[in-house]
Amino acid sequence: MNVGDTEIIFSILRDNGYDRTESMEEADLILANTCSIRDNAEQRIHGRIGVFAQEKKRRPGILIGIVGCMAERLKDKLLETGVVDLVVGPDAYRSLPRLLDAVRPDSPQIDVLLSRDETYADIRPVRTDRNGVSAFISIMRGCNNVCSYCVVPYTRGAERSRDAHSIVREAREVFEAGYREVTLLGQNVDSYLWKSADETVNFAELLRRVAAIDPLLRVRFATSHPKDISDEVIETIASTPNICRHIHLPVQSGSTRMLELMRRKYSREWYLERVAKIRSVMPDCGLTTDVIAGFCTETEQDHADTLSLMEEVGFDWAFMFQYSERPGTLAQRHYPDDIPPEVKTRRLNEIIALQNRKSLERYRAQIGKVQEVLVEGPSRKNPADICGRASNSMMCVFPGSHPAGTYVRVRVVDCTSATLLCEEI
Ligand code: SAH
Ligand code: SF4
Repeated sequence: MNVGDTEIIFSILRDNGYDRTESMEEADLILANTCSIRDNAEQRIHGRIGVFAQEKKRRPGILIGIVGCMAERLKDKLLETGVVDLVVGPDAYRSLPRLLDAVRPDSPQIDVLLSRDETYADIRPVRTDRNGVSAFISIMRGCNNVCSYCVVPYTRGAERSRDAHSIVREAREVFEAGYREVTLLGQNVDSYLWKSADETVNFAELLRRVAAIDPLLRVRFATSHPKDISDEVIETIASTPNICRHIHLPVQSGSTRMLELMRRKYSREWYLERVAKIRSVMPDCGLTTDVIAGFCTETEQDHADTLSLMEEVGFDWAFMFQYSERPGTLAQRHYPDDIPPEVKTRRLNEIIALQNRKSLERYRAQIGKVQEVLVEGPSRKNPADICGRASNSMMCVFPGSHPAGTYVRVRVVDCTSATLLCEEI
């Protein structure tokens, strides 16, 4: 999502005469787009601010800006560093040119207003990715859920869905520019809902419209919420060949008691039923997740429930985190962060070990199967090989020389726990 936002920022700045440089030593203006989701993400930015301070000492005229979620969360506290000239929240990027005109060494500028309707629908992002094959398209902003551990609703504001026509137009433009895959982004794509005077578009309908642009355009999306993913969405994926068979469905915990405390609004049984539905319609669908270890009051039994759910589902891969208390969240205000760090670490390590074993199992099960790969470019490890993803999102590597953006049918011959080793058919 931050890559997507950075592309919007580049677009706004480019239209106002700015150019992008890859090197900090050349920049007159340095913007750091930030994340607040866990404390260690913020600590890294504080480290970067130290680096920017050095650069500013060397070249006193340069400007330093902090944008994104940390700007929203910390507001003018960031100015206390004495290094930062500009603080801009996620809904205020259109103000950047005005703020940059006004900013002076002794007069820093700040705009952290959250909006009810900003979706940047009319802005054509300047793509910053390297492969020219896969593009992010933001379909909504903010979040209306209040998961008790999560800072996102406070830093990114209320949920709003972007005009469906502007999404389809952007997807068509990137396809015409040679891209072959779009990833539709939102905190909870299943609650996408856009209404105009004469139509209502839900997420399933949006998927159908984007997929209808061209059979050669692959459609991906993230993130799905287990409480909201509907049968209609699942059946739309199943019946549309160019919608990729991969669902990222963050479970967070396998314990219904924890899920209640997290305010996720589903139970372990509900989650397992959604997985069963997905697998009954699409046995070959890739399934991945997010897990939090050591949330408030988590017992050994709750932790065992998470392990058993992961064992039962068998995710292809997962993002796994220790609970990090975030200021202002429901959990921070109401529950003690009472799991000792060494217990959190041990539980996380058990979760990671189980997932590594499951990943290897899931990847091994692919050996002998045929996959269609969208080539992204040369493999990083061996330039004689090329790589790209299968529909289920597994990374495939195989000898060959097809250009990026071509579809190649391969057979899986071997694997690691994160890559399928294939040969072209
Ligand atoms: N909107 C998405 C997730 C966005 S945040 C969803 O609801 O699934 C990405 C992931 O970060 C979350 O799924 C969660 O696993 C993790 N996360 C969020 N807040 C966290 C916290 N306070 N501590 C640890 N992990 C957290
Ligand atoms: Fe955070 Fe929950 Fe919203 Fe995801 S759905 S962004 S975890 S509040």
